[in-house]
Amino acid sequence: MAESVELPGRLAILPFRNKVLLPGAFIRIRCTSHTSVKLVEQELWQREEKGLIGILPVRDAAEMTSMDSVLSQGVGSDSGERSSKVQINTSDAHTVDGKSHPEVIHWHKRGVAARALHLSRGVEKPSGRVTYIVVLEGLCRFNVEELSTRGPYYTAKISPLEMTKAEMEQVEQDPEFVTLSRQFKATATELISVLEQKQKTGGRIKVLLETLPLHKLADIFVASFEMSLEEQLSMLDSVDPKVRLSKATELVDRHLQSIRVAEKITQKVEGQLSKSQKEFLLRQQMRAIKEELGDNDDDEDDLVALERKMQSAEMPSNIWKHAQRELRRLKKMQPQQPGYNSSRVYLELLADLPWQKASEEQELDLKAAKDHLDSDHYGLVKVKQRIIEYLAVRKLKPDARGPVLCFVGPPGVGKTSLASSIAAALGRKFVRISLGGVKDEADIRGHRRTYIGSMPGRLIDGLKRVGVCNPVMLLDEIDKTGSDVRGDPASALLEVLDPEQNKSFNDHYLNVPYDLSKVIFVATANRAQPIPPPLLDRMEVIELPGYTAEEKLRIAMQHLIPRVLDQHGLSSEYLQIPEAMVKLVIQRYTREAGVRNLERNLAALARAAAVRVAEQEQAVSVSNDVQKLASPLLDNRLAEGAEMEMEVLPMGVNNHEMSNTFKISPLLVVDEAMLEKILGPPRFDDQEAADRVATPGVSVGLVWTSFGGEVQFVEATAMVGNGELHLTGQLGDVIKESAQIALTWVRARAADLKLAAAKETNLLQGRDIHIHFPAGAVPKDGPSAGVTLVTALVSLFSQKSVRADTAMTGEMTLRGIVLPVGGIKDKILAAHRHGIKRVILPERNLKDLVEVPASVLSSLEILLAKRMEDVLEHAFDGGSPWRQHSKL
Ligand code: ADP
Repeated sequence: MAESVELPGRLAILPFRNKVLLPGAFIRIRCTSHTSVKLVEQELWQREEKGLIGILPVRDAAEMTSMDSVLSQGVGSDSGERSSKVQINTSDAHTVDGKSHPEVIHWHKRGVAARALHLSRGVEKPSGRVTYIVVLEGLCRFNVEELSTRGPYYTAKISPLEMTKAEMEQVEQDPEFVTLSRQFKATATELISVLEQKQKTGGRIKVLLETLPLHKLADIFVASFEMSLEEQLSMLDSVDPKVRLSKATELVDRHLQSIRVAEKITQKVEGQLSKSQKEFLLRQQMRAIKEELGDNDDDEDDLVALERKMQSAEMPSNIWKHAQRELRRLKKMQPQQPGYNSSRVYLELLADLPWQKASEEQELDLKAAKDHLDSDHYGLVKVKQRIIEYLAVRKLKPDARGPVLCFVGPPGVGKTSLASSIAAALGRKFVRISLGGVKDEADIRGHRRTYIGSMPGRLIDGLKRVGVCNPVMLLDEIDKTGSDVRGDPASALLEVLDPEQNKSFNDHYLNVPYDLSKVIFVATANRAQPIPPPLLDRMEVIELPGYTAEEKLRIAMQHLIPRVLDQHGLSSEYLQIPEAMVKLVIQRYTREAGVRNLERNLAALARAAAVRVAEQEQAVSVSNDVQKLASPLLDNRLAEGAEMEMEVLPMGVNNHEMSNTFKISPLLVVDEAMLEKILGPPRFDDQEAADRVATPGVSVGLVWTSFGGEVQFVEATAMVGNGELHLTGQLGDVIKESAQIALTWVRARAADLKLAAAKETNLLQGRDIHIHFPAGAVPKDGPSAGVTLVTALVSLFSQKSVRADTAMTGEMTLRGIVLPVGGIKDKILAAHRHGIKRVILPERNLKDLVEVPASVLSSLEILLAKRMEDVLEHAFDGGSPWRQHSKL
């Protein structure tokens, strides 16, 4: 590069359309237009000493902005920074760029003098047109004073714009210039180092940075970037070295930033690409290895199927997101990896759960529901009425948050089947969840997935089984939940039954909320008392007390026998159980409050009949074969089915079977002998009480258990000893205290009751008393055995037997007052079942008798007692010893 250039006063001008040549830059151009060819030819090619030419940017009107500095033709005296504008006429435009259409162009008023470094001439073949290729080097800026035409091209009177050496030296002293130079150098160095890293070719530019004056270098740097025409022009116009440096710093810095951003993006894209490519590669390899090993399991297909299942599970969006996250995690795992299986099972559960799927609820027809309940259940009028009320409320207000129905009663009274009838009436699915023996909260809420072998709680499991989100869910035996160190299931159940909370039930295993609000809950319990009060508070208790023998008979005839026959593939053509025999089964083989054992015994009869039917059918089919060989005609007819069996009946077919023509009906009519043969010897008889109370010291009590009311004998005996009381029969504290009270009361009344000769006589002198409650394996507790204990003791000391037909219940105070007790209805029903004829009750229990079925009451004598003496009066034949005494 020339150090300094002597500019002539006039220069031939080569216009650059929308382009700028800056000093220090090189450019290679191809000249084809008439004007430019002429210019190159005359000014460069034909001259021996190659001269300079001026490069002047010209702009289309479209490229112009109002701020552009432009040159007006012929007005060259404008030397300031201000600009003026003159349109060049059409012919000029034509000559400049060879375009024929008229257009407006603008000359810039500053240009750069350039010298040709290389020239080559060419001739286009068919046309013979001459073209030049010129390599130009920009040297220095000039100002156009006046533009004129010389032949085909323009020349201009110019004035130099570069500073002289002395001027330049002065500027270099300027501290502002120094600062700007430093800034520019720093930025330029940074750019070079970035470029070096990228292309490893920064070395040459570095040398330039060290050798060239910075104001010149500024032009070179800027010329090497791609930038807008505006920016190039403004660089060209920056005559002042300070302005030039600051502009160049700005442009270089911008370029640097853009390189950096581009680099960052490239890196990111490359990183992503390589990661996914790597994964793809590894997967390919894994597949190849698996194929080699013959280990071609279809886990991936399974996952695809799982994903599809998840998609169709209609999960709420937040749960869907959660499931997706888990699935992505699963996809990255190997099947052998720990946690793979548990993660998969978990996702399967999410996919299987009915998030939205519900059974279509039919329009509730109360009449049909009532018919349905009636046809399924005998009796239970009040219960059915209450269920209909419940359904009616639901019909009027489907989202009613009424209390949860809770059927309370002994086993086998129809609690479960009533609940399933509610489901049928509502057209919903039914699911039963057994809570009996649940002591761990995790049984309700599930285990957290961090535990090995964790699973969801019973509710979520039940919902998965039933497959709809709005079933009728039976919480069976809700009174049998207990709490221990593993938490309190009842508190979890509270959340389930609370309409405010069960919208987002939180199962620990599931770990996402599940909406239970569409589920209709029904609960069952044997007794209401063990149910924790807060839970009981959320429920409406409906009691089912148990059936009388008469009711059981009706239930058996109308419901149980048809059902049992059907379950065993029989009909009344095969087995008939007469009413009298059902009665016997009820009396001798079952003594329960419900009908479950009755159903079981009937099923035993049905099984026996089924065996006989099956045996006989086999016998007939053998004879078929015999006949088959006999005639080809028969052969054909036999092939049509059992219709031909009639013709092959063996000897000894009775009339009944013949009348049925096509089938052999080995009708079995149950009689007493058969009952004993199939069911065994009778388990109960009415003689039991009489036999047991035959010896003094035994009395008959009535107690209440989870199986309903029961008859409970109390036995007392005396032996040689020193006044101790022994109690056996798995007794609780309350009952033990009752025994103490009873003994104290009897000892205190010994003389009055004629049990001792005088008041001072100690009944326990030289003897121990032992009281036993038979059925020793069954735990017993409660205060209601008080009167029974006293009666047994009085019987023992007086050596008088208690009446065998009389049973009693009641709590007694130390002063001998009889207090009321619970479960009267069940107890009376139990007495009735046992064939007891007289029942002694506390007087204050009179009100409870309204609940007892009239048919039962009419067959019993109810005796009310206010004080213990009343009980004794009723319990012994001919009244109590004390009363006898007073009569005397
Ligand atoms: P629970 O749930 O109270 O233990 P279930 O509902 O299982 O009793 O009833 C036992 C069996 O007795 C069922 O087959 C049921 O249909 C039948 N059952 C009970 N009560 C009646 C009744 N009143 N009418 C007809 N069948 C009954």
